[in-house]
Order: sequence, then structure tokens, then C-alpha cells
Amino acid sequence: MIKTDALIIGAGPTGLFTAHQLKLIGLNCEIVDNLDKIGGQCIELYPDKPIYDIPAVPECTGEELTNNLINQLKPFDIKFHLSERVEEVKKEKNDWIVKTSNNKIFLTPNVIIAGGVGSFEPRKFPLKECLKFENNSIFYSIKDKKIFDGKTVSIFGGGDSALDWAIELSKNSKVNLIHRRDEFRGAQATVNTMQDLVKSGNINLFKKYQINNVKGSDKLESIEIKNDNSETKILKTDFVLGFFGLIMQLGPIANWGLNIDKKTIEVDTEKFETNQKGIYAVGDICNYPGKLKLILSGFHEGALAARACFKLARPNEKYRFEFTTSSKNIKNRLGVKSD
Ligand SMILES: Cc1cc2nc3c(=O)[nH]c(=O)nc-3n(C[C@H](O)[C@H](O)[C@H](O)COP(=O)(O)OP(=O)(O)OC[C@H]3O[C@@H](n4cnc5c(N)ncnc54)[C@H](O)[C@@H]3O)c2cc1C
Repeated sequence: MIKTDALIIGAGPTGLFTAHQLKLIGLNCEIVDNLDKIGGQCIELYPDKPIYDIPAVPECTGEELTNNLINQLKPFDIKFHLSERVEEVKKEKNDWIVKTSNNKIFLTPNVIIAGGVGSFEPRKFPLKECLKFENNSIFYSIKDKKIFDGKTVSIFGGGDSALDWAIELSKNSKVNLIHRRDEFRGAQATVNTMQDLVKSGNINLFKKYQINNVKGSDKLESIEIKNDNSETKILKTDFVLGFFGLIMQLGPIANWGLNIDKKTIEVDTEKFETNQKGIYAVGDICNYPGKLKLILSGFHEGALAARACFKLARPNEKYRFEFTTSSKNIKNRLGVKSD
């Protein structure tokens, strides 16, 4: 069991800045995110797009903002738990017990939900039979590409992820690329590379086909694909990869006894606390009169929620407001010299 002063759910911009605020006032925290990378919507949905309304930053991309927020956390030792979804939050005396999808358990007086529009989840194959092979022969993301070496891999999708992986895996595997449309959504240069590999026989391309059935006992052995004219083909395959983009789901957060309205959590505007003592909601996921779904609002909300955490994490101490420019305590925590 991991004990911490505060657990942050979500490593988007709000979760990252909230961690900074907690550490500045001397509290520990850990961050869990369902994605395999840090940055929330900024990194997943618009890494290359410029943002123009971050205070004192005239222009930066989603990726640059994320990197700056990560840099701002460098002085602190913050543990990130990525590719893990928080499943359960339960009260235990004065603390909360928080469980993740990887069976990690946290004990903390403060849970800060910075869950944005919910956890990002891969869009999956609609076939029920696919569930049996999930994470064994059917994957929606790749952690270790070596497992595909020398094997047959059937990749579904028409966007950049499907094309990039088809090109990459064709170096060491037999690759089938299956797409339900004629046109691909990926970058033109990637489409051209893929088409060259089809011509040279390194990728087998099936356009206007979709998955129709999967067969195998413990592991997948073959799949059936079907085209728009209901013609079917059986492909022997060791692995199937599906790249159909991500959907955002509130998921388990909906079951934690919080006041939820239109997929957002109601909070007060003093501490950003929910109807449960010690559970706060900040950033896009919180709701109060006048709420603006902007990054700058998340920063303000995180700063106030962090101060509220102090009371429960250090019940015998009094929180003292200090400026970063003049506080020796804060400078010590940042590892910078005091004047
Ligand atoms: C295309 C686009 C352009 C935008 N442009 C701007 C702009 O110019 N300026 C601006 O201010 N805002 C902009 N926004 C909005 C901005 O991105 C959001 O306000 C901001 O990302 C909210 O940050 P957040 O940290 O609250 O949530 P998010 O960025 O959504 O991060 C939440 C994280 O929580 C994780 N999570 C959720 N539930 C769980 C769970 N149960 N377990 C584990 N992890 C979980 C998710 O995986 C996600 O990574 C834009 C948004 C989009 C889509």
C-alpha cells in the first residue's frame, strides 16, 4: 500500500500544475493516469497545435506546454503511475483507499480528481469474441514490439497509428493491413511509404474490409474479414492490432458517490471539494457556476485544492501563505539558494 498526502487522478495540465502546488507547500503526491504518457488532452489531442491563452506565454503547442509543466516539476520527486486507471475510491476512517486497474493501492487523506473529460480509452472491435483474446493476441496499443518479430500481425485502421505500425512491423513480421474504407486518414508521406511496401510485397493490404470473426483456443489462430459485398477471407494470424482512435469515458468516477451533472463533478469554489470530504475535482471535470473549461482555470482550481489538502494531511500544523519570491521554505523545496 502506497501512503501519500494526496493522490492526483489525471496527468493533464491541471493534474501536473496541482502536483507542483502540493509540492511547493510541502505535501507529497503521486499521479495516476490511464494514458501511457503525460499531458492529457494537450498531448493526446493537439500536441502540434498552438495555444494562445496561457498567461505570460504568448504561444506554445500542446506538447510544449506539457514539457514546460514537466520541467516545472523537475525539482520534485513525483511518482507517475501511467497506463493505470483508478477504479475504486473507498473511505477508511479518515483516509481514502484508492485502487487502480493494476491492483495498486493508495492510502491518502486527499484525492484530487483532475480527470478532464474522463479517461482516454481505445475504441475497440465491436465483436464480443475479441474480448477473449484481448491483451493476449489482440491489442489496442503496443508496449513491446519485439513480441511480433517473426509472427503474422493483422493491423486494422486507416489513421497514422495503423500506418506507422504497419510500416514499422513490416521490417520483422508478416503484416496484413485491413481498412474499412478506400481512403486513408494518415499523413500523405506515410500513406505513400505504406503503398510502396504493398507494391514490394512487404504489406498485404485489404481495403473496404472489416473484422467479421476470430478463431482460436488459448491464442488467436485466424480471423475472418468481410468486405462491403459480403465477400469473406480467412487470414491466419498470430496477433491483431486495432487502431481506431480513442474515446473519452467518465468510467468508474461515476460510481464514487459524487454529485455528477452532465459528466462533470459539482464542487465548491473555495476548496474545489466535492460532496465527499477529502475528494476534490479540478480542471475540465469540475463544475460550478461560471466554470470555464480552460487550462488557466484548472491551474487556479488546483492551487486552491492543494491548500485545502494541507489541513487533512497535516492536521496539527497551520498552513501559512508564502510567496515563492521570498519564502525560504519554498526555495529549499525547489533546491534553489535563498538570498
Ligand atoms: C482541440 C483542443 C484545443 C484546445 N485548445 C485550448 C486552448 O487554446 N486553450 C485552453 O485553455 N484550453 C484548450 N483546450 C482545452 C484544454 O485542453 C483542457 O481544458 C485541458 O486539457 C483540461 O485539462 P485537465 O488536466 O483538466 O484534463 P485532461 O487534459 O483531459 O487530462 C485528464 C487526464 O485524466 C486521465 N483520467 C481520467 N479518468 C481517469 C481515471 N479514472 N484513472 C486514471 N486516469 C484518468 C485521462 O486519461 C487524462 O489524461 C483545447 C482542447 C481541445 C480538445
